[in-house]
Amino acid sequence: MIIARNLLERFVAPIIFLVAISSSIAQSAQSTELSVTNAAPAQGETIELTATTDGSAGAPPSVTFNKQTYKLFPRGGSADSNKYVALLAIPADIKPGKYQVLAGSDRVDLTVKAGKFPIQYLTLPKSKDNFLMSPGEEEGIAAAKATVSDKRMWTGVFTVPSKYATSSKFGMKRVVNGKLLDDYFHSGLDFRAPAGTPIVSCAPGKVVLVGLKWRLHGNCVAVDHGQGVISIYIHMTSVGVKVGQDVEAGQKLGTVGSTGRASGPHLHWSLYVNNVATNPQPWIAVPNSKAWLAKTSAAE
Ligand SMILES: [Zn+2]
Repeated sequence: MIIARNLLERFVAPIIFLVAISSSIAQSAQSTELSVTNAAPAQGETIELTATTDGSAGAPPSVTFNKQTYKLFPRGGSADSNKYVALLAIPADIKPGKYQVLAGSDRVDLTVKAGKFPIQYLTLPKSKDNFLMSPGEEEGIAAAKATVSDKRMWTGVFTVPSKYATSSKFGMKRVVNGKLLDDYFHSGLDFRAPAGTPIVSCAPGKVVLVGLKWRLHGNCVAVDHGQGVISIYIHMTSVGVKVGQDVEAGQKLGTVGSTGRASGPHLHWSLYVNNVATNPQPWIAVPNSKAWLAKTSAAE
């Protein structure tokens, strides 16, 4: 009898266990419909993903794309909504081709197109022809870029951070002093602005970083706009804000300069979306029917 009971336990217990697993799969496999604002984005583009649940099992916790996990936020800020959103930045250096965005067993397919980024030729003095950083600089920038706070603080199109014309576009490959930089693309948008002219915040947010006299970024400021969107302003002459300070769109952050690794005075402005550099141009384009911003209702 003892043998029989052991056998029974050995076979029945796993069956019960399997039933328990499959019923928990059945419970969590609520249908989640995934959609994106553009299923054929270019390298460097931001798209918005919406996950619509049937309401049976709460929020899907996250989605994955290109080996990265993205947190989902209730659309409109309301927790009872059955729509959740995440902004996905298509990296400028991702290989064009087919990708999947996954939420549990649900998925949406993307076809990433080439960004068609031009090559730029630059001359830098020997002392600045390197990417050396000051103590704490790499860590400070990395922490700022990785900030993900819950509240989306902006509405609609972003404010242009300098009134001067843009020069180097996002995504450019560079030949510096005659040498092509491998694994490099221009991670922001440059404005050909004279030294001392104002730099303003592109959207409401909170200052999360002030770097001073850093070798690469010079004097710089990073602002968190919520839900993984961070703006960074570098090479500044002066900085007029403090870490932790709330800023409005258009509020002065400091002035243009050529501190750090710069060949002359200009504003380098980067936008990061969930830690990935994205092309800032569509965020400030007015009108721009293709920008996801124009289609997205303002979220609290
Ligand atoms: Zn730049």
